[in-house]
Amino acid sequence: MFDPSSKIVGMSWNTHSLISRFAASGNFSSNPGSLIKVVPMESFLQNCQEELEGLSRNVRGRIYSRLGIEQIIDKENTVIKSPSDFIWSFRLNPGTEINYVRVFEVERSNFTMSHDSSRDGPPGHSYIPTSLGSDISALEIYCTFSDEPDWGMDQDIFSCPDYSMGRPPFGPRSGKSSQAAFHMGFPHEHRFFYRAIPGLARSLLPIRAAMGFDLAKIAFRGGFDYWGWRFAAWGAHYLQDITCPFHCCPFPPGIKNLLKKFFWNPNPFKFYHNNRNYLRNRHGLLEAVVSYLMNESVKDGTNSPLIDALNPNHKKLPEDLDLVIQEVSRIPCMLAPKINDSMVNLFYWPLIDKPEYYLNEDPLFPIGKIIGDAATQRPSMYSVFVDMVSQCLSQAGRVTRYSLELFRR
Ligand SMILES: [Zn+2]
Repeated sequence: MFDPSSKIVGMSWNTHSLISRFAASGNFSSNPGSLIKVVPMESFLQNCQEELEGLSRNVRGRIYSRLGIEQIIDKENTVIKSPSDFIWSFRLNPGTEINYVRVFEVERSNFTMSHDSSRDGPPGHSYIPTSLGSDISALEIYCTFSDEPDWGMDQDIFSCPDYSMGRPPFGPRSGKSSQAAFHMGFPHEHRFFYRAIPGLARSLLPIRAAMGFDLAKIAFRGGFDYWGWRFAAWGAHYLQDITCPFHCCPFPPGIKNLLKKFFWNPNPFKFYHNNRNYLRNRHGLLEAVVSYLMNESVKDGTNSPLIDALNPNHKKLPEDLDLVIQEVSRIPCMLAPKINDSMVNLFYWPLIDKPEYYLNEDPLFPIGKIIGDAATQRPSMYSVFVDMVSQCLSQAGRVTRYSLELFRR
């Protein structure tokens, strides 16, 4: 299962499992008696069918009304008996697979092994299958499945004809980036901005986060703790996402630079072609660096400010989810332009400006070398960058604990 020759490096903020592990580990009982049996989704669906059908109608209603599409929900007769009914009813990617796995601890991998970005989920090399009926700890369920929303379940939803969801409020209709509307949100823009680009106010992230928590409540009430922790982890994923500067700020490199480029050559098609990768290469660079640094420090046991940042004391967050989203994304959104500028100057990699180059798909991107060069050749810039990223991760840790506390109240 493990392929040490794989050259794919960790390219994503989806160190979600690490964020959950270090932010939440003190909140789980270490008592080995607290192991939980892996239960098939079918049993959970059979036992909680009525409540799930009610919740799914509510979730669909919220999605369509956020998108400004007239509701057809009341006429739909939804029965949730199988995983595919579940996927359809909650408007997940019809290609979603329900996998039973646990995440492989990075520190147990060998040093030559590359980091697994986990972006595509199982059977990536950082997952180990867990058989139905076997035991797993609540913390392991929580860490493993806080990555799950990035395994494809929110992709290709707008391009699914059965769902009739129209165009996404932002981001592409299909492909990996089509999950953007579910994993990003922009709660800090001026109202003029929303009037100019109304889609930016229609993020579906809050609906997905609430869906995860509501599903978890149903599962816990029904005695399905495995599914309770798995869904709770989904909710945590979306809230962790909103603390990433590129997920809560629409354009960290600054809109002015781009407008200048446009006015030099005001041909919309050329402009799109030349700048398609401008933003996503910067987004990819940040996530690749953060993921790499966190994985490295856990793997070789060295202290890292990025890991330490996950566990400070914070003021308690309000109960209201929209207020929580506003609060934890405030600092990341404010720091986004500075983080972008500092990163571009620090990790010098001019290819990110080339229209044809897409960093996330470059298997030869020398991430270890560019980080090493930055740290040794530009140490003070490097520490400013790490400090700013730590402030964002600190919010990720904070909101992970908030997500856990929902199940203690
Ligand atoms: Zn995500």
